[in-house]
Amino acid sequence: MGRAARGWAAAVLLTFLAGCTAAADAPRTSIGTPAARDAPVMATPSPTAVPVPVQAVVVLDPGHNGGNAPAPEEIARPVPAGGFTKPCNTTGTATSDGYAEHAFTFDVAQRTADLLRATGVTVVLTRIDDSGVGPCVNVRADTANDAAADLAVSIHADGAAPDVRGFHVVSPGLAPDGGNAAILDASAEAASDLLAAFAAATGEPPATYPGALVQPGVTQRNDLAGLNLARVPAVLIECANMRNPLDAAAVTDPGWRQRAAQGIADGVQAYLTSR
Ligand SMILES: [Zn+2]
Repeated sequence: MGRAARGWAAAVLLTFLAGCTAAADAPRTSIGTPAARDAPVMATPSPTAVPVPVQAVVVLDPGHNGGNAPAPEEIARPVPAGGFTKPCNTTGTATSDGYAEHAFTFDVAQRTADLLRATGVTVVLTRIDDSGVGPCVNVRADTANDAAADLAVSIHADGAAPDVRGFHVVSPGLAPDGGNAAILDASAEAASDLLAAFAAATGEPPATYPGALVQPGVTQRNDLAGLNLARVPAVLIECANMRNPLDAAAVTDPGWRQRAAQGIADGVQAYLTSR
């Protein structure tokens, strides 16, 4: 059993120990602390209740930001994108009931960060609240590069046609300026690890609707600034299609968001331990 699998088993066990009546939206802070709380009833005391630490730096990039919509001129400003320019940032999508992508990505990133930090991974977030503007996509890439991250994961949800659903991971293609050539193979490995782990944790189907499909649930693109400007292994995950009713029900469920975070964390762990 690999580290990620042991981590998932530990998380399941701890969830069980926390009681069958535990609300799906249990406080996130409980994720990092139950080992100590539950240690007395464990056959083997903490710290073996949490996954084996992995000495690594991971950058999590929650897409968009809550202050983007009221700042259209600021986020429309063109920035470098790897041989061309793109807008600094965008507002993102939302469910038909108005649950915004920026809120979803921020929540899932926080949950993922908690899970990874509990295993000893150093996590850097590209934004620390959900009320600001930006940062621009090139700055987000710089955050990962400057941190010399072992892996950068951008977290998004899609806004595709309402009759299609599923998640997909975006692996970088060669940027027009060629600058990300050195990270393409490792990023593709990370995309494969995330695909498997996210599907296992959430039961969400790998999407078949996007263009540039490499396989169900994985696309390869060279039009995204964050992936084009990455100089460390980087992937982007579209966790669901927020415009689809089934997926909208998923993303608005805190329990599903916790499973999504677990899937991302498991994928990251699988990648880190395979390197
Ligand atoms: Zn997005």
